[in-house]
Amino acid sequence: MSAGAAGAVLVLNAGSSSLKYQLLHPDTHEVLADGIAERIGEAGSSITHEQDGESETDVVELPDHHAAIERAMRFFADHGTDLRSADLRAVGHRVVHGGRTFYRPTVIDAEVISEITRISSLAPLHNPANLIGIEAARSLLPDVPSVAVFDTAFFHGLPDAAATYAIDRGVASMHAIRRYGFHGTSHDYVSGQVAEFLGRPTEEINQIVLHLGNGASASAIAGGRPIDTSMGMTPLEGLVMGTRSGDLDPGLVLHLNRVAKLRVDQIDTLLNKQSGLKGLCGENDFRTITQKMDDGDDAARGAYAVYIHRLRHYIGAYMIALGRVDAITFTAGVGENATSVRADALAGLERYGIVVDPDRNALRSKEPRRISADDSDVAVLVAPTNEELAIARQAAAIAP
Ligand code: ADP
Repeated sequence: MSAGAAGAVLVLNAGSSSLKYQLLHPDTHEVLADGIAERIGEAGSSITHEQDGESETDVVELPDHHAAIERAMRFFADHGTDLRSADLRAVGHRVVHGGRTFYRPTVIDAEVISEITRISSLAPLHNPANLIGIEAARSLLPDVPSVAVFDTAFFHGLPDAAATYAIDRGVASMHAIRRYGFHGTSHDYVSGQVAEFLGRPTEEINQIVLHLGNGASASAIAGGRPIDTSMGMTPLEGLVMGTRSGDLDPGLVLHLNRVAKLRVDQIDTLLNKQSGLKGLCGENDFRTITQKMDDGDDAARGAYAVYIHRLRHYIGAYMIALGRVDAITFTAGVGENATSVRADALAGLERYGIVVDPDRNALRSKEPRRISADDSDVAVLVAPTNEELAIARQAAAIAP
């Protein structure tokens, strides 16, 4: 019913060929509907919508994001929710890069759109897609305020020493080159969940958050303030990811160009789409990799070893950066589900006060939970992330 959607927020996450959406109440967390449109602008596009306990898929031509949102709106209408007259509080947009300009949720107007457009050179794969989602929503739901929530925002105040690349200052400044950090909405939300779970104010807690999904990032948060994070100027730096390489010797990129004769766009594709776990063993889905490891597949085992090696490298670095660590938390698809990753990431660290309890680690739940032993000085937690809820709350808080 339309009345049920009054005060709800429509959260949109527009990728280059996909659009994820969720309609939810920011106060009660009730999710009224969600859906995903895939292969937008390509052959074989489809949209799946879930509402009232039903899941429907339509394989239909979706030439652009406008068409995808229009099709989603028809699904909503079929369930009695006319988004135009539903009295929505806001449309909340995930925007990947806020540059130096945006570090708070921002009500979108023409000026904000032109600034996000200007920043797009920093995130050429992401921001243009986010903008297409913004334009489509503004034209289809002109009476609902649109709010941008930036993935970089949480890391805006990174200390200079952590945010600075050791290159020529003039060049860096001219081209806005610095470490921005990403997945900020998740790191912010999860670190808040940790404080709530431990029953302590965020300001008192030093924590490491490990967001391990298809994209992956780690952060060190001292008293609620991020002091380091593994993603940098782009979401390519840091941990080994599903299809992204994470950290590399920058000389390797030059070598690929000079010796392997790859063009810049080919190197971009190689490092963003054909590297990480996929590059190492042909698979980027952790469930498949775990299955292959169980079947004795050497490439899958090797990829897993590289993944864990890099993860431990960051955990160690952040323990030193923080000095005292109160909590280490795993989140996102892999972090919430892959028991072995959690065990292997923290194995043998008893002398540092980190003891994972194997039985607690093996329990499955959708709730935040402790997996460390009672005698572990550091609380090791699993806390599900919820970026849609975080975006909806932030959008609702500032919508006019
Ligand atoms: P995204 O970055 O796309 O939001 P997610 O946070 O959804 O990613 O995480 C996707 C990853 O989580 C995939 O590699 C997937 O295999 C992994 N994953 C999901 N469920 C499980 C599971 N039960 N066991 C191991 N890995 C899982």
